[in-house]
Amino acid sequence: MTDCIAIIGAGLAGISAARSLAARGHAVRLFDKGRAAGGRLATRRAEHGGQRLQFDHGAQYLRAAGPGFAAALAEAGAQPWPDAERRVGMPGMSALPRALLGALPLTAGRHVGEVRGRPGAWTIRHWDAKEARPGAPLPVTAPVEDGPFSAVLVALPAPQAAALLPAFGAALAPVRYAPCWTVMAHFDAPLPLPDTLRPEGHAIGWAARDSAKPGRDAGAGCWVVQAGPAWTRANLERPAAEVVAPLLAELAGLARVPLPAPAWAAAHRWRYSLLEAPLGAPCLWDAGSRIGLAGDWCLAGRAEAAWDSGAALAALLAP
Ligand SMILES: Cc1cc2nc3c(=O)[nH]c(=O)nc-3n(C[C@H](O)[C@H](O)[C@H](O)COP(=O)(O)OP(=O)(O)OC[C@H]3O[C@@H](n4cnc5c(N)ncnc54)[C@H](O)[C@@H]3O)c2cc1C
Repeated sequence: MTDCIAIIGAGLAGISAARSLAARGHAVRLFDKGRAAGGRLATRRAEHGGQRLQFDHGAQYLRAAGPGFAAALAEAGAQPWPDAERRVGMPGMSALPRALLGALPLTAGRHVGEVRGRPGAWTIRHWDAKEARPGAPLPVTAPVEDGPFSAVLVALPAPQAAALLPAFGAALAPVRYAPCWTVMAHFDAPLPLPDTLRPEGHAIGWAARDSAKPGRDAGAGCWVVQAGPAWTRANLERPAAEVVAPLLAELAGLARVPLPAPAWAAAHRWRYSLLEAPLGAPCLWDAGSRIGLAGDWCLAGRAEAAWDSGAALAALLAP
């Protein structure tokens, strides 16, 4: 029997599982629908008037309570910001997962839509991610089939894992995420605001001058503005272009003065952002089928929880 393990999802949970298994001598292969590894540790890059802009539009900063994640952050070159307790990737948040993935084999840009076969000999079917839409039927084009794999680890947000593995749907049903609309905006002039804001009971949950982070173009006025769950839910299905102005108006309310129009702006909707109801166990592993699940949703809505979950799943599979 082949002993290559498929890992679907190359966010921190999938990367952590892959590294742990590889360290124990197992062959692994990761698949992700994104253009690169990282998932919600993401950096959007843009150009405006010849100037390069960048925004960490997912996770803002990471904390390490345990030694395992602290060592991973140090290995990946994370730097303190905005205080000694919190860390960011250099030169962007997406640099962290890419450094931690290293040379592990990743097939990117592929939407995994089916897991087929039997325990010990699983195959996975995947499609060009540009053709697949979340919640929509699988594309009619022929998939690529890979395998056989001795085990399959699924490291996706719980609702996406349930869509791929309906047999785990009941176990995953209690997990609930809050969504988050995020606006990225570049201003030519400095804003009359501190570099970080976390207002209480406001439409905005968090806003920060991304350019203030270490290793960025400190002179640039790149801001990330994240709506809180209530505002996001009330505006969830609005087109991205309609979300920019109202959230920047909320930011102006915090500044108590009108703000200049942004020179460049865009919005991104995270359907699965921070956790409201976790599973309450480090991972799920079904020894009979040799299928396991990991992700932040197991423990808490933090990057470290995703890392720990992936490591816990690898330890169950290969003690
Ligand atoms: C707006 C926002 C702000 C946050 N702020 C912080 C913060 O400040 N500090 C903190 O610690 N955490 C923060 N988080 C949470 C943190 O980002 C997550 O806990 C962590 O990144 C989750 O990692 P993961 O591996 O479990 O999932 P993900 O990072 O979501 O990885 C899952 C991967 O699966 C892939 N995928 C999904 N479906 C498929 C499919 N069918 N086929 C193939 N690939 C698929 C995705 O492309 C993705 O790469 C924030 C998250 C968001 C969205």
